This record gives sequence, structure tokens and C-alpha cells, in this order.
Amino acid sequence: MNKKNELFDLEISDITSEGAGVGRKDDGYVVFVPFTAPGEKIRCQLLKAGKSFGYGKLAGLVQPSPARIEPDCPAFRRCGGCALRHISYEEELRIKKNWVIESFRRTGGFDVSNMEIFSTENHDRYRNKAEYPAGTGEDGQLCFGLYAQRSHRVITCADCLLTPAFYGDILKAVEKFCRRYRLPAYEDGLHENGFVRHLYIRDARATGEVSVSLIINGDSLPHSDEFVAAVREACPSVVSVSVIINKKSGNEILGDKCEILWGKETITDVLCGLKFEISPLSFYQVNRDAAELLYNKACAKSGLSGSETLLDLYCGAGTIGLSASHSVSKLYGVEIIPEAVENAKKNAVRNGIDNAEFFCADAGEAANMLADRGVRPDIMIVDPPRKGCNDAVFEATKKMMPGKITMISCNHITGARDAARFAELGYHITELFAVDLFPRTAHVETVVCLKR
Ligand code: SAH
Repeated sequence: MNKKNELFDLEISDITSEGAGVGRKDDGYVVFVPFTAPGEKIRCQLLKAGKSFGYGKLAGLVQPSPARIEPDCPAFRRCGGCALRHISYEEELRIKKNWVIESFRRTGGFDVSNMEIFSTENHDRYRNKAEYPAGTGEDGQLCFGLYAQRSHRVITCADCLLTPAFYGDILKAVEKFCRRYRLPAYEDGLHENGFVRHLYIRDARATGEVSVSLIINGDSLPHSDEFVAAVREACPSVVSVSVIINKKSGNEILGDKCEILWGKETITDVLCGLKFEISPLSFYQVNRDAAELLYNKACAKSGLSGSETLLDLYCGAGTIGLSASHSVSKLYGVEIIPEAVENAKKNAVRNGIDNAEFFCADAGEAANMLADRGVRPDIMIVDPPRKGCNDAVFEATKKMMPGKITMISCNHITGARDAARFAELGYHITELFAVDLFPRTAHVETVVCLKR
């Protein structure tokens, strides 16, 4: 019988893609224990005893893993952001590679055990974006922080090591502004009059431009001039200050309306030698340097000769397709967020690219529309959100049957599932590799090249 609070020794054999260690008790019972490392022996306290598996807490280290290191962030363990800060980065890469291999074996039946994983030098302060949720602190006042593990409880952290240190100055200034006018935190709709949802900061690494947005559950921000002044004083590199209106219930962070209060509508970054304008509502990879590595490798491994037609589905502000546009004869891009499509069109013009056409639509619907019009891409790039490709994408693939498909996936589980669906249509994997876009967290990006 496995009882709550029971103490026992446990050997950790593996680590799940949520970042929890996995061990098996002598009787075969599986226990998940966060902040442990494969190969180590621990003392475990059972916190939750389910029928077939349980959740435990690290109560002591009997034989620590040689890869274990001292976590360097005071919020580690409380914060839901980093899951792997207690192990060396080399071990983290080994673990992440194994996640991808296992997903493709289990979910798709593929053997990709010879895959490589790539990363850049910077494992800290690489994020160019933060979305700090608003909560209510112990003093009853609004505070911005980070979500705790698997919860929407806000914890405070003076300096998150994944983002630039100056983000903390902006956070403090905006917190002060919200407190002065007693603006209440929204906290997942918990407060009837909840107003401030998130503080949203972005920076363009190549140019240093910064944008700051306050996401509110309301139509306008009172004292917005003072908000602008506070932000500009805290951060001289800010070039764009806005409010984003999000009155939807649920946990979607961004709303669909952005009002610029001061400055420009976009920040401009440089990626793969091209200039990209990015609106607050447009997706942009959070780790610029690693994204550049990812795009370069994905394009190189896709083997473009200059004469192909390329269809870039889920294209965001057009970054991948435009980076490859000089190696193809025609580029079609599809993206559902209107601001991102506007960015993509302008980004083409700005970089002197005249062989690109962008559509604002659902990826699957637009792909079917293009297929019905007789468009037959030689290569299709898909870069869907975490839930993977829509069914309609596979329907359109069946009609167009591009010679090559390159799939970029931020979720190796849905990525493996989608690769299996492409395999059913007659494709096989020619290349698979991962790029660590998210060091210290339980996320990794996978690239799969398929051929008909
Ligand atoms: N390829 C881009 C963006 C990838 S993120 C880049 O590397 O920057 C995934 C993108 O898919 C986001 O921009 C999101 O807005 C978009 N998206 C989400 N659902 C979509 C859908 N059903 N159809 C088209 N685009 C969608």
C-alpha cells in the first residue's frame, strides 16, 4: 500500500518532459519527483498517492547525480518557469535530446536515436519577451510576478535570470504606477473589478529597441500619460508604449486590440541578415540567437535550389519564409493574426523581397484554397503552435503533395504525432534535429525534414 507522507528511498531513472524525475519503488509503483536528476538516489516523501502512480517531494539526497549543481535563482522551485536549473547544462541537453527521441519512438514509431541537439552559448537572459501576470501581494497591493509551478498563483521574483536585468526596472516602475492609482489585479477573473492582467515587455536584441504594453480587462487605461512617463523614465531604450485590451475570460494572455499610447507601432530586430518589424500582437521567437541558428539549419537541411515554390504555414511576421526567400522562386505565407500578416508584408517590402505573398487566414483553410487554385509548392514549412497542425493542413497536403515538408515544432509530442500523419500520406523523415530555444526550462524545439 502506498500512503501519503510515507518516506522511502528512490532511484531516479528518467525525467519527464514536464521536468519531473521518475522513479520506481521496489514494488514497481511509479513516483514523479520534481527537481531530481536521472541516476541519483533520493529520500522521497509521497505527497499524493494515486492508484497507479504518485507524486513525491525530494526529502533528501542519498546519492546525488554528478550533474547536480547549485541552482542560482532564488525563485527556483517556487517559479514555474525553470525546471532544470539544478542540473548542468550538458546534462540538460542530453535529457532534452532523449525526450525528442522517446516521443518520436512512442508517438510515431520512428527511430531517430542518431539525432543531434544544438544550442547557443547564452543559457541565461536569452528571452526577449516577458509577460508578467498581475497578482495581489501580501500587503494587499498589486504586484507583478511569475506563475508558480502548474498554477496561476503569482510569485514575485526581483530578477528573473531568463530575461535582461532592465526588465526588472520597468516592472518596478509600472507596479508603482498601478499602486498609486489602486488599479486592481485581474487574477484570472477572480476579482469582479479586476483590471490589470499582464505587463508585457519585449526587446529587439540587434537594435536594443524595447516595447512595453499593459494588458487590461477594460477599454482604456486611466492616467495613461503618467504610465508612459513612468515607463520612459525607467527604460530610456523604450520606443513603443501601448495598452492591449483583453476582456476575454480564460487564460489567453494577449487580447486582439492594441492601442499605441506613445512611440512606434513596432520594434525592429535583425534576424538572418534581414530586418523584421514586430508588433506587440505578433509572434516572435523568444530566443533570437537560437532562432537564427534554427532557421539557418532548417533552411540548409531543406536543400533549396532557388527554383522552388515555398509555402510557409503558421508564418507569424514572416521570419522563416523571408529568410529563405532568396533561395526560392516564390513564397506564400499564411498566418491567422492580422497584425503579424501586416508585419510580414511590410517586412518583405522593407527587405526588398518581391517574390512573397502573405495571407491572413487559418493555415489549413488557406492551404486548401491555394491547392484548389492549383498552387503546388515544392516545399512546405509548418511551424504550428503547441497543439500541432490542424486536420485541414493534412487534407491540403494530400492535394498538393509537396516534394518536401519541413516541420518546426515547439512540442515534440504533437510534433511526433504530426510527423506520423505526414508519414501516412507517403512521407519519410530525412533529417531530425533539435535546437534548445529555451535553456533551463522544460521546452525544446524540434525540426523534422520529410520527403515524399
Ligand atoms: N513561423 C513563425 C511563427 C511560429 S509560432 C516564427 O517562427 O516566428 C505559430 C504561429 O501560428 C503564430 O504566429 C500564431 O499566431 C499562428 N497561428 C496559430 N493558429 C493558427 C492557425 N489556425 N492558422 C494560421 N496561423 C496560426
